[in-house]
Amino acid sequence: MAHSRLVTMYSMLMLSISTLMGGYVACGAQNYRVPVHGEEYTDPNAPSNVTTSGDGTMNGANLLGIHSQAGWSKTGPVLFQTSDAIPERIVDHLRRAIATWEAAVGKELFIYQGTEQVEGSDFNSLYEPLDDTVNGHYFDYTWALSTGKSPSVLATTIWENSPEDAQAIVKADIRYNAEYYLFGDALSEFGEGKRTIVDMESLALHELGHLLGLSHVPTEDDKYSVMNPSLFIGEGMMTRKLSAGDIERIRQIYGVGDPTAVEALEIADDEY
Ligand SMILES: [Zn+2]
Repeated sequence: MAHSRLVTMYSMLMLSISTLMGGYVACGAQNYRVPVHGEEYTDPNAPSNVTTSGDGTMNGANLLGIHSQAGWSKTGPVLFQTSDAIPERIVDHLRRAIATWEAAVGKELFIYQGTEQVEGSDFNSLYEPLDDTVNGHYFDYTWALSTGKSPSVLATTIWENSPEDAQAIVKADIRYNAEYYLFGDALSEFGEGKRTIVDMESLALHELGHLLGLSHVPTEDDKYSVMNPSLFIGEGMMTRKLSAGDIERIRQIYGVGDPTAVEALEIADDEY
């Protein structure tokens, strides 16, 4: 009698341990922080006035966290299109990231002009998307081949500064590494095979920051900034709120339109 009770207790104990271990392993294996653009370096082959977000020097950067002090403020809202290969629900994540930056300055920063029948994979080199007049968002299904960047890089923003004013941006495109990552809602979706889930809204917030004129902010200067060089990826991981510093820096470029817009924004802090 005593023996069988002992066996039952032992089995229950082993079951709880294996349940705990299972949960722990799945969680630990899927969530991690990665550099958004890999190793930063300056590309000697970049055309003049053109920079990618992996560029360590960020053409024109001379203030903390800002690479183009005029941004698009002289040319008005950024007209942009998305590749028709990007599903509408993913475009919604992008729209939310746009709404967050717009709320921070209380003005319209972007105008969506619908889809373009081009994938990132259609371009033969990293800078080729800048050759047309469209400011596009593209998924690259042949990432390594078409961008020449490492498989671990999540996305890259490429932009062109005005030849007349090195502080103004005139064109930009964003390419997402859809070959090695899956983009979606990291709170409800899972990775597939080799592709880890990356929260699209969080990544778009970071890439749009570059597109608008922001450069990286070291974690030690502002640990809640969406412009930290690395991002948490995997199931349940997201960075969808701006830090107080992000708001201050974007306002240095675009000023403030409607000051009440920012009141609706939740700011990243210790509670987050
Ligand atoms: Zn970046």
